[in-house]
Parts: sequence; structure tokens; C-alpha cells
Amino acid sequence: MFDVAVVGSVNLDLVATTPRLPRPGETVSGTGYAEHPGGKGLNQAIAASRNGARVALIAAVGDDEAGSRLRSLAAEEGIDISAVAVVDHVSTGRALITVDEHAENSIVVVAGANARTHIDEMPEATVVIAQLEVPLTEVLAALLIARSRGAITVLNPAPAAPLPDELLGVCDIVVPNEHELALLGGVDALRSRGVPTVVTTRGAAGVEVVDAGGRAWTQPSFPVEPLDTTGAGDAFCGALAARLAAGDDLRDAVRFAAAAGALATTVAGAVPSLPDAGTVGELLSASGRVQR
Ligand code: ADP
Repeated sequence: MFDVAVVGSVNLDLVATTPRLPRPGETVSGTGYAEHPGGKGLNQAIAASRNGARVALIAAVGDDEAGSRLRSLAAEEGIDISAVAVVDHVSTGRALITVDEHAENSIVVVAGANARTHIDEMPEATVVIAQLEVPLTEVLAALLIARSRGAITVLNPAPAAPLPDELLGVCDIVVPNEHELALLGGVDALRSRGVPTVVTTRGAAGVEVVDAGGRAWTQPSFPVEPLDTTGAGDAFCGALAARLAAGDDLRDAVRFAAAAGALATTVAGAVPSLPDAGTVGELLSASGRVQR
């Protein structure tokens, strides 16, 4: 039995820095190159694990070096990888990212093995969370099983995409950012389509919650000096799942997740920026002292 099962993508991010982005047909000289683990599934699994949850990741990688590296990384983070399939003759998911000196970027995502993610035996977990970088059929299959077992089902509808009622109907909590919420037609549309609780993340503007009883409230953001917002949404979702699994009510879990999201903006990169429970706890108690 796990606290959190994450159904989602695993990518290797290849990041080139250049003075400016190339135009079509053009070659520019890069000034730097780095490879980073990524994919919303892997990021959120790490975020939940660092916040004390026993986590199972349900995902797929290719039979390449990147796949074995990323599986090892997940295992080193304490994540159960028995449901991370290795698919033959397919590459592990890749994101090819070019960043210019103004931090403007262009990104190509190649789903690779992520497109072959398949729900076979779902591990049992208190909370099941999914995103939209793996096939919708599998997200639906996972959340249906989770719902039939009485788990708390959470969907982070990222990247933004229109969704069928069938899928929304098996979500207890949907966690969009503002852009994703707009594409889904807003909070009222989501709730009328069967989603009890909508938790909208709004960057520095904090979090807007409408709960299952129709009560709306705002969780203000924690004041930080942002350096790189990559990973904030994943830190938020992973921490939220971990705290809900630990038995927090929605208000406490959202507050904790907002602190995790804020901290993730203070460190460069995605995985390196995902905070652990101790760091989040320090920010929460520091801000508690300020409020009193
Ligand atoms: P996404 O990366 O998915 O667009 P957000 O930018 O909304 O997600 O960030 C997720 C959460 O992280 C926010 O709701 C907030 O709690 C926290 N966060 C993000 N940016 C900041 C910031 N500049 N200052 C404080 N908290 C932030």
C-alpha cells in the first residue's frame, strides 16, 4: 500500500543555451548544454517522496541509457519503480529546450515511451495523481481503478487540453494553473461537469480553491525572491498529494503545497528545486511567526 501513486511522464530534458533562438532554417552557436531529469510524472513523484510519502510511479521509459538513468534516479529518491515499464525499441521521452539570453525559450517535446504508458496492475494508494503527458485512455483507466478503490483522485490537467466528461467525472480534485483553467472553461464549468474541488494555482497571486461544499477561499502565496519558476507547479502538486495522503484537510494541504511551490521558485531547475518536508516546514513555521 502506497501513500501516493503518480501516473505520468518521465523525460530527459536536453537544454541548449544560445545568444538568441534560431529562425527556421538557421543554425546558431550554442554557449552551453546540460541534461536534466524531467517530465511532470517524475517531478511530481519526487516532490511527493521528498515530502514524506511512500510513492509508486506508473510510467514508461525506453530501452535506452536515458531510461535506465531515470529509473535509477527515481529509485534513489525512494520511489517504487516496479510499475515503470521499459519499452523495447522506443526512446525515452525527451524535451529539447533552447533558451536564449533573455530567458526566452522554445521547446520540442517528444513523447517517446510516454505515449506507450499502459495501466496494467495499478498499485494501491491513498491518493492517485495524474497529468496529461501520457495517453488520456490510461489516465482515465488509472483514475477509474483508484475511484473504485476509494482513493482520492487528483488530476493536474497539464499541459492544457480539452477533457472528456468521463475523465472529469472520476476526479475528486482538479489542479489547473490559470491558463489550463481558462482552456477548461473556468471553475463553474469544471464543477458542473462533475469535479467537486478545483484548486487553481496562480503563481505569485497564490491559490484559489473551491471545495466540494462550494466554499471558495484564497491561499495567499508565500513571499519569496523567485529565481526560476520551473517546477513550481510540480512541487505544488506532489506536496499536495503527499499531505492529503497523510490525512491533512484540504486547507492545510493547500497551504503546505503553496509553501512548497514558493520554495521551488528559489532554486534553478526542476528536480533540484523540489523542496523536502523539512524545508517546507521551516517556511511554514517562519510565516506562522510573522502572522502572530
Ligand atoms: P505552474 O508552474 O503550473 O504554472 P504556478 O506558477 O501557478 O504553476 O505555481 C504553482 C504554485 O507555486 C503557486 O500556486 C504558488 O503557490 C507557488 N508559486 C509560484 N510562483 C510563485 C512566486 N513567484 N511566489 C510565491 N509562490 C509562487
